[in-house]
Amino acid sequence: MIHTPSRIDSRTIVIVGGVAGGASAAARARRMNEHAHIILVEKDEHVSFANCGLPYYVGGEITNRDKLLVATPEKFRGWFNIDVRTRQHVLSIDRPRKTLRILDRDKGREYEQVYDKLVLAPGASPIVPPIEGVNAPNVFTLRNLADTDAIKQFLDGAAGKRAVVVGGGFIGLEMVEMLHRRGMRLALVELLDQVLPPLDPEMAHLVKEELEHHGVELHLGNGLAALEMEDGKVRRVVLKNGERLDADFVMLSIGVRPNVKLAEEAGLELGKAGGIRVNEVMQTSDADIYAVGDAVEYTHAVADLPMRIPLAGPANRAGRIAGEHAATDHAAPMPPVLGTAIVRVFDKVAAVTGCNMRCVAMMQGHVRTVWVPANDHAGYYPGAQEMLVKLLYEPTSHKVLGAQIVGGHGVDKRIDILATAIRFGATVEDLTTLDLAYAPPFSSAKDPVHLAGFTAENDLRGTSPFVSPAQLAELPDSTQILDVRTSKEWDAGHLDGAIWIPLDELRSRLDELDRNRPVVTVCRAGQRSYYATRILMQHGFADVQTLTGGMHLHSHALPAQPAVTR
Ligand code: FAD
Repeated sequence: MIHTPSRIDSRTIVIVGGVAGGASAAARARRMNEHAHIILVEKDEHVSFANCGLPYYVGGEITNRDKLLVATPEKFRGWFNIDVRTRQHVLSIDRPRKTLRILDRDKGREYEQVYDKLVLAPGASPIVPPIEGVNAPNVFTLRNLADTDAIKQFLDGAAGKRAVVVGGGFIGLEMVEMLHRRGMRLALVELLDQVLPPLDPEMAHLVKEELEHHGVELHLGNGLAALEMEDGKVRRVVLKNGERLDADFVMLSIGVRPNVKLAEEAGLELGKAGGIRVNEVMQTSDADIYAVGDAVEYTHAVADLPMRIPLAGPANRAGRIAGEHAATDHAAPMPPVLGTAIVRVFDKVAAVTGCNMRCVAMMQGHVRTVWVPANDHAGYYPGAQEMLVKLLYEPTSHKVLGAQIVGGHGVDKRIDILATAIRFGATVEDLTTLDLAYAPPFSSAKDPVHLAGFTAENDLRGTSPFVSPAQLAELPDSTQILDVRTSKEWDAGHLDGAIWIPLDELRSRLDELDRNRPVVTVCRAGQRSYYATRILMQHGFADVQTLTGGMHLHSHALPAQPAVTR
């Protein structure tokens, strides 16, 4: 039922923060309550700009700065009759009096503003380590248009110079690519042993290879220790292991901290993850105050735990819900969040949804995993590109827990299918039944999502149990590793101690294997080894497993696994 506020419902709704969550809340509040007095307060110059587009403007892929301004204050006033106040910094909330203290940055004076309902959407701030040099003119963070303009200005004429990007998360990697595009020489520093922490290490390894392929100098497992200055500028980045990297430009992208000061000082409850605690309609511990976006904690859809998930999608959806509830006292609840995210890194695309292995460990849950290489479209149609799908699923309920994909074309489509499936509680069997669109330029009759489902289903049914590359080292010494690839593939490199019998000779050479000892079948990607497993299982071999992901995963993603002989 649609709740339509009456003419007298002219409540005052104040929204703090005018970008993703705040702008969504304001626009939705107006659409649901024509009579409310809606005020959008933003401390900076701009409202409703595309922060996700900023790296691409820096790199020159987006050329028109105005395109980043999704909606101007004039549009908010004209279309939505919203009182937009830029350069107005909300300093404090007086909850008993329902007022805000606001600093007008242009006039340099403070004033009070009353509210009936308040929506907090103050976002998050880039983490800046407390070390000397972070305020130097060649050290940058990227959060808003002012940062972007400063970076662009610095980069003009900087081609050939050396940039050090600290932090290998989504924004760090986008900036690496864009700075590379601007002709800079790149070094990337990351404290963890891998880039892209939301991905599991072996999937992130594929992204690392792509960075190396483009000449990015990587310093993984090594943090920023100090910045060395000369003539008022940073000239070198000193790493924790003592290494010193020359730098003309330093980009700090080591994560964000939720802006919770206003809420905390007003006595609103924070959660364990450090964000503002909210209920399913985004109300804080004060029912007249809502909070959304990077500043809050959402319930993670798979882990069922409160987490900070600083992404634009949840911020926009939560803003819409808070805006509607603030305007009408009604709204559908915010569904739990999966943390679905995607990034392009040069010619590769990496995407993730739901739980990764760390998240499963937090849940103390059971998980099984398959890695499935697959083409984005029919191999016979020109331009097919391979992707590697990692699927995590629960062995008792068969529910899909999460997925990660690294590849080229079509990664976006598959991660969204999987996110949708997880959102509606799909099992691995459900994936095999999806009726997906197919024509050769777009997909295969068996889509990568189907293949991931079939593979996981085979694993769970025992039709073809899988062993992961990491588990190879734990297998009993008596295990026979059976490589069923061609002679050319075998000669290019194989696992130490493996027995080589090409698939088309297997049926006639079964006696070369011991039926009483375990067998692990191996091929390039997992398909031929699966066929071999089925042959062996139907010829009396009792203990047969297939190496999931095959040598593709083993050699590309897990180079530190048991030896490969060439
Ligand atoms: P914001 O959009 O940051 O808005 C918060 C606003 O509140 C700011 O403008 C701030 O000035 C204002 N404010 C704060 N305190 C006060 C105060 N006291 N008074 C008045 N105003 C205040 N997410 C994705 O999902 N995909 C992407 O590709 C992606 N790319 C990104 C690229 C970059 C460079 C950045 C910075 C972020 C990116 N994100 C991406 C993250 C996404 O932009 C954020 O998750 C989203 O903007 C959060 O929305 P928000 O409303 O919580 O905060």
